[in-house]
Amino acid sequence: MKRLGRAYRAVRVATSLSCLPLLVEEALLLHMDHEEPGINQDLPYLLLWLVSKYEHIMMRIVNYLATHDWMYRFEFARRIMDFMSRRMMSFVNGEILTLDEVREMLGSIFEGGHTVAIGTCPCRRALNMLSDDVPNNTDMVIGLWAEDYLRHYPGLYHRIDQAEAEELVKSFNRHGLMHQLYGFQSREGAAYVLCNCDSEVCIPLRAQKARGYQSFRKGRSQAIVDEAVCLGVEECGACLLRCPFDARVVDRGKGVVKQDMCFGCGLCVSTCRGKATGLERKRGAKLIYARRLVS
Ligand code: SF4
Ligand code: SF4
Repeated sequence: MKRLGRAYRAVRVATSLSCLPLLVEEALLLHMDHEEPGINQDLPYLLLWLVSKYEHIMMRIVNYLATHDWMYRFEFARRIMDFMSRRMMSFVNGEILTLDEVREMLGSIFEGGHTVAIGTCPCRRALNMLSDDVPNNTDMVIGLWAEDYLRHYPGLYHRIDQAEAEELVKSFNRHGLMHQLYGFQSREGAAYVLCNCDSEVCIPLRAQKARGYQSFRKGRSQAIVDEAVCLGVEECGACLLRCPFDARVVDRGKGVVKQDMCFGCGLCVSTCRGKATGLERKRGAKLIYARRLVS
């Protein structure tokens, strides 16, 4: 009986050891075989897994580094921080999209049969700032990343269909949440998550405003204003409140656009009471992350 027990244990050890290479392979697997039309998610699986599981903790660290002044007082530390932050921002950043582009992009994603899930914004989780006024579940994850989030956070994320996704993005837009498609390394079609951001809690936006780090790629469009039609900021001024990038300013009583600061989100268009604001396509501007998803 003892011998049988030992043999059984030996078989168990051998079996678990034989699984090791498989586990390692799975952890390091490159998702080369998941390059499907319209979407390119070939990051190492281990990286995907780590970021999806601990994103809120990473965001907490970024927020701390961006909003605490003490380490920027020392030249050496400031340089290191700047270097690290710029490296990080060039590795991962968000491409600003208009509502129309988002809707078209979602159509392509669902057409491609990719999973889409929605859950609580990681910046809100990082800052413990749930809102009573705007939606909290605004983190729309895509494809393999959606499947990871559904595995890691089954109570927090749920799968959605195209109709629900459409309704959600329209509602986010009405609430003044800006749409940005997150990707990596400026790689074409690298679409991982559609963030719908509240400028009060968006940590990348905080980092951009506080330290000048370029967290976002500008969209294809920019806002233009017909000053003759503008109601004037005394009577209206909605655009000044709406713009997440502080690109709307007052000039001779009218709400005008500082073109170099406009990221083309389009939020000031839908809110313009005088119908004085529109969006115009910038010549030669191209989308990178959404390129294969939006015409
Ligand atoms: S000016 Fe309008 S379109 Fe440009 S960033 Fe601000 S809200 Fe978005
Ligand atoms: S929201 Fe429109 S009408 Fe109102 S101040 Fe701005 S540009 Fe003028």
